Amino acid sequence: MNVQHISEEDLILYSMQSLSAGETATAELHLENCTECSARLAEIAGDLALLALSVPQQAAPAGARDRFLSRIATEVQAPHLSNSAASSAEMTPAPSPVLQKTEPPTNVETPEVAREVRPKRNWFPILVPWAAAFAMLAVAGYLGSKNQKLEELLNTDKGQIARLSVDSARAQQLIDTLTSPEAKQVTLTEGKGTPPPTGHTSYLADRGALVFVGNNLKPIPANKTYELWIIPANGKPPVPAGLFRPDDKGSASVILPKLPEGVPAKAFGVTVENAEGATSPTLPIVLAGAAGL
Ligand SMILES: [Zn+2]
Repeated sequence: MNVQHISEEDLILYSMQSLSAGETATAELHLENCTECSARLAEIAGDLALLALSVPQQAAPAGARDRFLSRIATEVQAPHLSNSAASSAEMTPAPSPVLQKTEPPTNVETPEVAREVRPKRNWFPILVPWAAAFAMLAVAGYLGSKNQKLEELLNTDKGQIARLSVDSARAQQLIDTLTSPEAKQVTLTEGKGTPPPTGHTSYLADRGALVFVGNNLKPIPANKTYELWIIPANGKPPVPAGLFRPDDKGSASVILPKLPEGVPAKAFGVTVENAEGATSPTLPIVLAGAAGL
């Protein structure tokens, strides 16, 4: 079936609901079956929304405005519009055919007189609110779709923030679990007897990041402290990696002490030092562990 597509002008007039009833019916019938014209109509509806936002470079297709205006001018003369839109106080509304039958006109003016006045009517006050309403609808539609896009964007960011919060909360939970005095520290050992002191170190040399957790540590005098050391793999002197004192259960931790970055570890050691700490370890080393290079 070779059908003539709807002209761009007619699509514009259709989207403004300015086609005649017959033309509208024809257009609707065609639009139902023609995806091409439906797509063009959607595009025009979008263009009109932009026009309504007063974007200067978005001009309506040539001729559309003239045809629109001339159509309105034509419809001003049409009787069905004249009857329904009388608004001027100077003018008597033309009686409808029904009124003429049921109710004899009491007015001295004849319908002929009214008809002579009619073409002079100023349509501007009627058209302006109509055009304003259309523009507002178009703007509302445009802003609605913009708003939806912003909302989608916002939701994406909310998702990322939520994920980061979860990561951060998990990290905090890990630190709390390792360091909280309320955390139950239990070392599992074989058989009975006093479990031996132990220390566990996690160390990222590149970042200079270290976490140490000690258990079953022997109590030390108030004027003394334990001190953790990194024994570098490059033969340099031991690097102090934090002071710690065990609690009454013998637990202690060192979390992310200030360390130089990029010191490869051969081993870790713990010494007992005076309360203020030392810059080089005092023997004996009470706990030691090789890094297993
Ligand atoms: Zn078509």
